[in-house]
Amino acid sequence: MDKNQAKDRIAKLRAEIEHHRYLYHVLDAPEISDGALDSLKNELENLEKQYPEFITEDSPTQRVGGSPLAKFKKVKHDKPMLSINDAFSRQDLDDWFERISKLTQANLDFFCEPKIDGLAVSLRYENNKLVRAATRGDGLVGEDVTMNIRTIESIPLRLHDEKNQLPQVVEIRGEVYMTKNVFDKLNKELSKQGEKTFANPRNAAAGSIRQLDPRLTAKRELKFMAYDIVTDLGLDSHQAVHEKLKQIGFRAGDYLKLCKDLDEVFAWFNELKKIRNKLPYWIDGVVVMVNNLAVFNQLGFTGKAPRGILALKFPAEQVTTIVENVIVQVGRTGVLTPVAVLRPVTVAGTIVSRATLHNFAEIERLGIKIGDTVIIQKAGDIIPEVVQVIKNLRTGKEKNIKVPKRCPVCNSPVVKPESEVNFYCSNKSCFAMQREQLYHFVSKNAFNIVGLGPKIIDQLIEEGLIEDAADIFALTKGDLEPLDRFAEKAASNLIASINQAKKISLARFIYALGIRHVGEQTAIALAENFSSLENLRKASQEKLAEINDIGPVVAKSIYDYFQQPKNIKLIEKLLAAGVVISVAKKSKQNKFFGKNFVLTGTLSSLTRDQAKEYIRRFGGRVSSSVSRQTDYVVVGSEPGSKYAQAKKLGVKILNEKEFLDLIK
Ligand SMILES: [Zn+2]
Repeated sequence: MDKNQAKDRIAKLRAEIEHHRYLYHVLDAPEISDGALDSLKNELENLEKQYPEFITEDSPTQRVGGSPLAKFKKVKHDKPMLSINDAFSRQDLDDWFERISKLTQANLDFFCEPKIDGLAVSLRYENNKLVRAATRGDGLVGEDVTMNIRTIESIPLRLHDEKNQLPQVVEIRGEVYMTKNVFDKLNKELSKQGEKTFANPRNAAAGSIRQLDPRLTAKRELKFMAYDIVTDLGLDSHQAVHEKLKQIGFRAGDYLKLCKDLDEVFAWFNELKKIRNKLPYWIDGVVVMVNNLAVFNQLGFTGKAPRGILALKFPAEQVTTIVENVIVQVGRTGVLTPVAVLRPVTVAGTIVSRATLHNFAEIERLGIKIGDTVIIQKAGDIIPEVVQVIKNLRTGKEKNIKVPKRCPVCNSPVVKPESEVNFYCSNKSCFAMQREQLYHFVSKNAFNIVGLGPKIIDQLIEEGLIEDAADIFALTKGDLEPLDRFAEKAASNLIASINQAKKISLARFIYALGIRHVGEQTAIALAENFSSLENLRKASQEKLAEINDIGPVVAKSIYDYFQQPKNIKLIEKLLAAGVVISVAKKSKQNKFFGKNFVLTGTLSSLTRDQAKEYIRRFGGRVSSSVSRQTDYVVVGSEPGSKYAQAKKLGVKILNEKEFLDLIK
């Protein structure tokens, strides 16, 4: 065979192997045996060895390659990976329908697909070649897991595009998952080797995708189910999206169904509930989506989730057991959480010996006593909870549960703010609180200090090496080496990851502070609105409350946090220890960056919430009153006094069309 013949043979082999991959992984209809396919792959590999100049990245021989990574790079998603709101009953489904029907006159039909319990990833193809794969992360920023994703055979390395119709960049989303068989096999192996097993298939899939060595990922036999094309291909329905996905090389869902109304949706949901145990992978519900994409887009967003889509979840599994005791845990914010200690019982595939009781009001509502027989439930990753007490089974020996007068950890008095159901330890530096704060501080969505888990933090506190978060950044290799479990390499690794964590985004920094009521989303909103720590520190309660989703209680909590000298000291200590807060730079996607908008009157093509959502998406802020700081006033029909005020102050006024042009 001469060089030209080899080149020709290589191209044909690749096409043939891809054809059989498609038959096997997408259509479940293999035409040749595994052995025959392997021998085609062998021939290709040998030819490529002989003629390495013909090796391309999208060759099926190149799925597992490259050397292990030191860590994953961050990837900013071009379009955020949004979340989906959950529904748990027919009533929830009807309520949803009622809400969206008010926003559209269109006849609605619904596309249903099983919700696979896996890990969402986004795949980017350029010129039809897979160039990047990223995890969902926090929805805005994920991790680059391209090398690992390439090992998944149900993902094409090159899109099928014979007629050259696809745009240069195509972005696909879907779920990486592990089949039940592989999951069982993996856990058996892990436990044989004395290693920790995975609690559920989602963790197993996530753990496998986050291997730094792609050869390990390849062994985990992951699969991929595509469910969306982010790039606009001019398709008019979600059903068409699934058809297209299949055409261009993906497995795009089993048990898909287009339903003309909610009766059909609910019937399909019940059907899947019956057969879900027989499927080769786990599903935890059905995703229901408005099929017409024009209507779907028109419906817009509510909070972080699109209005036109809903995840209808299967009911949680329930079992009965006995409450043997109730203990009280002290959380990061000092909140006291009662926890039921249960006679161990298996539910939803895992052994459960504790269940949260949420708070003492919940104990009262349930009427629960120590010794009671209770119904507990667990769904997916959710913490098990007590749903009901079976009072008829009481013997009379059950004991009442009392709110402790003193903190179970530091013995300080317990207090209850009037506006809340929760009780708190009054000691602001309660040991447990401090420890929880530190766990939170280094956690994945905060400073993300890899290798600094709770056990090591406990050890560092006990040894007196750290007292607060800033002390972490002062640790040296010499501090760590004498400790148990720290070999020299582990110590240098941890110091390296601490140093790496010093540079942090403002949103993560705010989240890491552990301000009461400030979760990840609120931290992101604060970072976007204030753009510097200094601005946030100086913000008044009123200014804080102007931000969408931040109510007066949250605003007060943030404000109070920055009034406490102890907290300011900690922040200053962190900055002095070398922590650098990076502020997102102005970009095209942030074309309203730093701009203040005020809305008045009614817009004909958008609801007020949709308009706000657009402004924020482009980096702008929305305030409720016009001042000299206002950059634009968007005026709809029947505007209020804000319009007059804007004219008086000479603020730029936009009518609806001008505003729509800006956000187009
Ligand atoms: Zn305490």
